Parts: sequence; structure tokens; C-alpha cells
Amino acid sequence: MVSLHFRRSLFAAAFGLAGRRRLPCYHAPAAAHMSSGAGGQTETEKPTAMLRHLLLKLRATGPVTVAEYMREALTNPGQGYYTRGGGIGESGDFVTSPEISQIFGELIGIWYISEWIATGKPKAFQLVELGPGRGTLTDDILRVFNQLASLLSKCDVSIHLVEVSPKLSKTQALILTGGKVQSNPEDNSAYMKGVSKTGIPIFWYRDIQDVPPGYSFYLAHEFFDALPIHKFQRTEKGWREVLVDADPEVPDQLRFVLSPSSTPATENFIQPEERRDHVEVCPEAGVIIQRLACRIENDGGAALVADYGHNGTKMDTFRGFRNHKPHDVLKAPGTADLTADVDFSYLRKMIQGRTATLGPIKQREFLKNMGIDLRLQVLLQNSHDTQTREQLLHSYDMLMNPEKMGDCFNFFALLPHHRLLHPDKKHKPESKAPVSPVAGFDELLLK
Ligand code: SAH
Repeated sequence: MVSLHFRRSLFAAAFGLAGRRRLPCYHAPAAAHMSSGAGGQTETEKPTAMLRHLLLKLRATGPVTVAEYMREALTNPGQGYYTRGGGIGESGDFVTSPEISQIFGELIGIWYISEWIATGKPKAFQLVELGPGRGTLTDDILRVFNQLASLLSKCDVSIHLVEVSPKLSKTQALILTGGKVQSNPEDNSAYMKGVSKTGIPIFWYRDIQDVPPGYSFYLAHEFFDALPIHKFQRTEKGWREVLVDADPEVPDQLRFVLSPSSTPATENFIQPEERRDHVEVCPEAGVIIQRLACRIENDGGAALVADYGHNGTKMDTFRGFRNHKPHDVLKAPGTADLTADVDFSYLRKMIQGRTATLGPIKQREFLKNMGIDLRLQVLLQNSHDTQTREQLLHSYDMLMNPEKMGDCFNFFALLPHHRLLHPDKKHKPESKAPVSPVAGFDELLLK
């Protein structure tokens, strides 16, 4: 059983000597995306190649769904925003928690080790990250694994990254392996493979389905919010899907229109009891979470999903970011990040009871439960210059302040049902013994 006391000693082992990766950076609070709004493309800005491509398509075949528009803008194989490298980080368009502070990834590393211990230290595990961005989060997790090398010495650990962007996979390879990778290895379904600086094999895939089965820990940080959403509007004539079309009155401009009648998506995605006037649905997120749930049900492991989102209550959350500023989602597609809040209630529904779920809980609660304050104290004690100390405090504030990232980001976990049953209860259902706690979610009621 993973007692709190035990977790503290795990914490001490991981962090007692751990060197700092780098100084946490200052960033504008752009990740706490709040609203969409006009901006971005100026009057004089020329239409992008992506906009020209879309305008031709729209004029030829008519309006497309918001999901199709978002998919093109983000992951079109030639001109998509992520395909071209995405703008993650201080010099880009938006900043994420792992880019703000090394503590974030370290605590997530501890979470996986804690779950590995709680499930009896299986002989092997795969860490599977969806949408690894610049690779920073996995790099921080690997540093924790390395710090706990003696604990993991008999465990066969491998890293599996699901990434569609060739450019970002190169960045990840550079950070994680120093750039020493092999493309299209013959012995594997991966499109690239390499070995981490600490000697752990790393594989890259385009789709979660290509990742080999096996006991796995899944991680999706700011991944689900980048997947294409459908948008629906309640009208007097019933639900209509929001579509993207070429504006007939303004050259080189896109506009939203409503479908003249209901579409297959309106029939399938809107629940009869829906009370909101505007609804966003991300079927791709539903498919992926179902795959994760099936894999955990069959092979064991756990998944941690961290993102901004809601529980089926919000309406219009589709928004764009460029240069850390809100950006009109229909302007200069391919040059800005497009995103929408994750509907955790939809994810839970799509899991269909295959696994237990915990959360969503607020980022500041999860990190507090994971011991962020203790880790901050250790780093502060070990830093001797004022600038470093100020940076540490600033990045802590970014992650934890309810008005910055503390409240709008959430943690949500998938665990096999048996993980939440006390070992005694399997044999003695009347046992009142508490289940072994799940790090980070301790005070939560199970759902
Ligand atoms: N997790 C990182 C990056 C978040 S940005 C962080 O927190 O810093 C979203 C990431 O998901 C990028 O790496 C992007 O290329 C990737 N991505 C977007 N759509 C994807 C898809 N359909 N399949 C796989 N990866 C995708």
C-alpha cells in the first residue's frame, strides 16, 4: 500500500540530490487562455498558403465543419500549425506548465512511480505521452526515473511518444536523445526510435493504435484541447451545426455560418436533455480516451489527463492564440494555436465504465497533494541568488495561483477498477479497510 509516509520518502529519494534542469522561465500568463477575440492578422497581412487552400476548397465544395477547419489549421501535413512546429514557449504563441517549471514534470514522474509501486511493481512499464510538444515534460519525468534508478533497476522502462508533427518530433528527439535517432526502424511500428540520455529506449508514433500493448502509463498534457471540435447552436428550428465558409462580401476572409438543416453530427452528438444553447463536442477525444480505457482495462496501468476544461457546462470556448495574445480563430489559419476546453464529462461518458476515473480536480489541488510546497522549499534552500529565488516563486505562482493556471487546469485519471479496491475486499467484500490512496487525488470521492 502506498501510504502518505511512503510517498514522502519516495519524494525525498527523488529530490534529495536532483539537480536543477534549468532556471524556470518567466512567461506571460498566456496559457490561462480566457477568451477569443479579434487580433492576429493585420489589414496588410497577405493570405497564408493555408487560407488560400481553404478558400479554394470552400468555394468548390461549400462550407466545412469547425472540426474539419481545426484539423486543417493545426495538423494539415504541409501547412498545419503543429506540422510547422507549433509555437510552444516564451518565444512562441502559448506557454504550458512543463515549460514554466521543472517541478511540474517532476511531480508527475513521482505520480507514475507511486502508481507503479501501488500495483506491485510490475516488471515492465511503458510511459506513453500523447502530444509531447517540445519533449520537456518527458525529459523532467525521465530525470526523476533516473534519480530513482535503484528502485527501478529491475524494471524494463520504455518511452512511447505519439506525435503527428515531424518538426516537433525532431525537437523532442534533440532534447531527449541529443538527436541520435533512427527513422523508420524495421523492427517496430514506430516511425522513429532512439535512446534517452539515461539509456531508456524511446519510440515515436503517429497514432495511439501503433503503440504496442502492455502495462502502460499514459500522459496527455494539453493534448485533448488541440483535437478538433464540432460546434452546435440551438435555433428556433432546432439544433444546427456551426460551419466555416468563405465570406462572399470580403475577399480572403472566412466566416461562421449555420447549417441550413440538421446534420448527422447534430443527430448524434446532442443529447435530448441538453439545456445549453451552444455545445462543443470533440469526437476524436472520445475515441482516444476509449482506446486508453480499453488498453488499461486489458493490460493495466493508468492515465493522467491534464488540461483546461469543464464538466459539460461551458458553451463557446473555441479560441486562438498567437504571440501570447488572443487571436481571431478564422484569421490566418495555420499561424496560430487553436484550442477548446476539454469536456471531462464527455470523456467520462466515453470511457463507459471500462476503468475507474478520478477528478477532474484543479491543478493547484493536485500539485499541492503531490507535495509542490515541499519541492519548492528544497529548491529555494538550494538556490543562493535572488534572481533564481524570484524565478522559482514566480513559476510557482503561475502554476498555483487560482487566477493564473491553478484553477483553470484540471487533472483527471483513469485507473483499473481493481486499483481502487483494497486487496482484502476482493476476497472479503465486507471489509471496511480503506483503498490505498492515489497520489494527488487523495481527498477525492471516487466516481
Ligand atoms: N504536452 C505538451 C504540448 C502541448 S501542444 C506541453 O504541455 O507542453 C499539443 C501537442 O499535441 C503538440 O505536440 C502537437 O503536435 C500534438 N498533437 C496535436 N494533435 C495531435 C494528434 N492528432 N495526434 C498526435 N499529436 C497531436
